[in-house]
Amino acid sequence: MGVAVLGLGNVGSEVVRILEASADDLAARIGAPLVLRGVGVRRVADDRGVPVELLTDDVDSLVSRSDVDIVVELMGPVEPARNAILSAIKHGKSVITANKALLSRSTGELAEAAETARVDMYFEASVAGAIPVIRPLTQSLAGDTVLRVAGIVNGTTNYILSEMDSTGADYASALADASALGYAEADPTADVEGYDAAAKAAILASIAFHTRVTADDVYREGITNITPEDAAAARALGCTIKLLAICERISSRGGQQRVSARVYPALVPLEHPLATVNGAFNAVVVEAEAAGRLMFYGQGAGGSPTASAVMGDLVMAARNRVQGGRGPRESKYAQLAIAPIGDVQTRYYVSMDVADKPGVLATVAAEFAAHEVSIAEVRQEGVTDEEGQPIGARIVVVTHRAAESALSETVAALAELDAVQQVASVLRLEGTDQ
Ligand code: NAP
Repeated sequence: MGVAVLGLGNVGSEVVRILEASADDLAARIGAPLVLRGVGVRRVADDRGVPVELLTDDVDSLVSRSDVDIVVELMGPVEPARNAILSAIKHGKSVITANKALLSRSTGELAEAAETARVDMYFEASVAGAIPVIRPLTQSLAGDTVLRVAGIVNGTTNYILSEMDSTGADYASALADASALGYAEADPTADVEGYDAAAKAAILASIAFHTRVTADDVYREGITNITPEDAAAARALGCTIKLLAICERISSRGGQQRVSARVYPALVPLEHPLATVNGAFNAVVVEAEAAGRLMFYGQGAGGSPTASAVMGDLVMAARNRVQGGRGPRESKYAQLAIAPIGDVQTRYYVSMDVADKPGVLATVAAEFAAHEVSIAEVRQEGVTDEEGQPIGARIVVVTHRAAESALSETVAALAELDAVQQVASVLRLEGTDQ
C-alpha cells in the first residue's frame, strides 16, 4: 500500500516516524505493508531525518504517482492543500487530512470529489488532535440522534483562560506565558479570536447533524476582552470561564429543526465536566438522545497526539483498500437550516457599573423584565478608587434562559440608562439546565 505524506512538520514528521517504527505491526493490522513512496516539502535537503530521495517539492507529481494509494495531507494552509487533495482524489487516491481550515470551508467540494472518485477521505485529526471524536460521531453514534456537541477544542485559549483563573493574571500576561511555553503561535489571532475553534465547530456540526456547516455559519467571539474581573466574578458564582464550541440541534415551536453552531467564552459551573479541563487539554461532550452524555478528553494538539489520529485514519483507509471497500461517506441528508445567534437560548451573566444610589437596582431589574429576560441571581458591590473612596457600584446579574435577541435588546437599553455608567461585560452561562 503506497503512501505519500505531504508535509514534514510537527505532525508529518511524527507520521513518518511511526510508519517506520511500527511498520510490522501496521502491516499485520492492515493485511499489507504501508510503503512510504515520498514526502512533500518546501525545502528538500539531506538534514531532514528522511532519506533525501524520498523528499520532493513537486507535490502535484507525488500525488499522481501510480504507486501511491493513499495521500496524507499535513501541509497546513488552505492552498496548496486544497489543490493537492483534489488532485489526489482525481487520481483515485484515498486522502487523510488534519486541515481544519480547509475542511471547514471546502467540505462540500472535497466530499463530492471523493464521492465521484469513490475513494475515502478521513479527517479525525482535524478536531481535537488525538481525541477520537469524528469516528464516534460518524460510526458509533450512527444509530442515535445527536442533540448537542459542546467542547473545549482549542488548547491555546484554554491555557490562557486557565492561567487567568488560577493566578488572577490579565489576558496580556497569560498570553505572553502561553507564547513563552510554546502554546501560542507568533500570531495568535486564529486561536484567541476563536477562528480555529469555529472551524472545528463547523466540522463537528456537519457530522453531528448530517448537514453541511461551514466556518461562515458559525457565530464567533474570542477571548481577548475577558478581564481578571470577569474571572473573579465567575469564581464568585461557582463557575470558570471557558472558550466553548457549541453545536446544537434547536427545535422551534412548530417542530422545525435547525442547527446552531457557535464559539464564545462562557461561564461553566465548576461541577460541569468541561470545567475541570485545564491547560492545553481538550474535551468534547456529546449529548445524544439514547446514549445520554458522553465525554471525550485528551491532548488536542501536538505532533505526536495528532499523528495518532492521522495513523488511525491511515490504517482504516488502507484496510478498506485491501478489502476492496470504502468507509462511510459524507452524510448530509438532513440539511437543516442554520439558526441565527439571535434565536439561541441560553443563560447570561451581565456586569455593569452603576451610580451608587437608591433605586438603581430596581431600575436595572425593570429593564430585564421589560424585555422578558428573567433574573436568577443579582449581586451588588461597592466600587472604590485607588484611595479607597467610593465611586459607584457594580451590579452582576445572572439570568434564566432567554433568547440572545432579547438579551441584546436588554443590554442596549441598559447602556442608555442614566444610572448605568457602562455595561462592563456580557457572557453566556452554559452547562446548567435552568
Ligand atoms: P508545520 O509544522 O508548519 O509543517 C508544515 C509542513 O508542510 C512543512 O514540512 C512544510 O515544508 C510543508 N509545506 C508547507 N507548504 C508546502 C508546499 N507548498 N509544498 C510542499 N510542502 C509544504 O505544520 P503542522 O503543525 O505539522 O500541521 C500540519 C497540519 O495539521 C495543519 O493543517 C494543521 O492545522 C494540522 N494540525 C496540526 C496540529 C498540531 O498540533 N500541530 C494539530 C491538529 C491539526 P517545509 O518543512 O519544507 O517548510
